[in-house]
Amino acid sequence: MPLAHLAAAAALICLDPGHGTPPAVGAQVERIGPGSKVMKIKDGGGAPGEAAIVLRVAQKTRTLLLKRGYRVAMTRTGPTFTYGTGGNVARAKFCNERHAALMLRIHADGSVSPSAHGIKTLYPVNRRGWTDDIYARSLSAARAVQRSIVVATGARDLGLVPRSDLTGFNWADVPSILVETGFTTNPAERRKLESDAYEWRLARGLVAGVARFVRP
Ligand SMILES: [Zn+2]
Repeated sequence: MPLAHLAAAAALICLDPGHGTPPAVGAQVERIGPGSKVMKIKDGGGAPGEAAIVLRVAQKTRTLLLKRGYRVAMTRTGPTFTYGTGGNVARAKFCNERHAALMLRIHADGSVSPSAHGIKTLYPVNRRGWTDDIYARSLSAARAVQRSIVVATGARDLGLVPRSDLTGFNWADVPSILVETGFTTNPAERRKLESDAYEWRLARGLVAGVARFVRP
């Protein structure tokens, strides 16, 4: 008998569509990072319409990733996020436990200015003990995904934004980025965000970026 070749398991992409936390849980607070005294609300609820939009984008992204041979886990597959104790610590742990090649957090933006529009990608700053283990890979992923999603959608490129204050990054042990897919407070962009065709474009852009970052 020839030796069996153990095929490495395909890379797992952890999709984290934002929000959807029951309000009573969302109002609770949690530590912004391991050992921190700084507490932050679990889920402020997000921009108007955001939770439903980002779930649909995540579902489409999942379909395309599976087609390409990735494994996929999602922190929520329905309107409500119920994993663990809720909140962003739980979201990070969900992806950590699955040893994800990437935690891809999908959000939409809001602004008091209705003219604000475009796409940006957030990534963790390099903080010793919290994100020093994921900083470089997260930044690589952020660059790849931001470039690809702007090409796929033609949206305004708002660039990359380093963040020190995102609980979901600070608890992550796997590369982690957060894509703000557009402004629901901009009427024209919201119409797009709520159209099937544009959601597929967003998903294609996300997947093209993932593919540049990690092979299945
Ligand atoms: Zn959000």
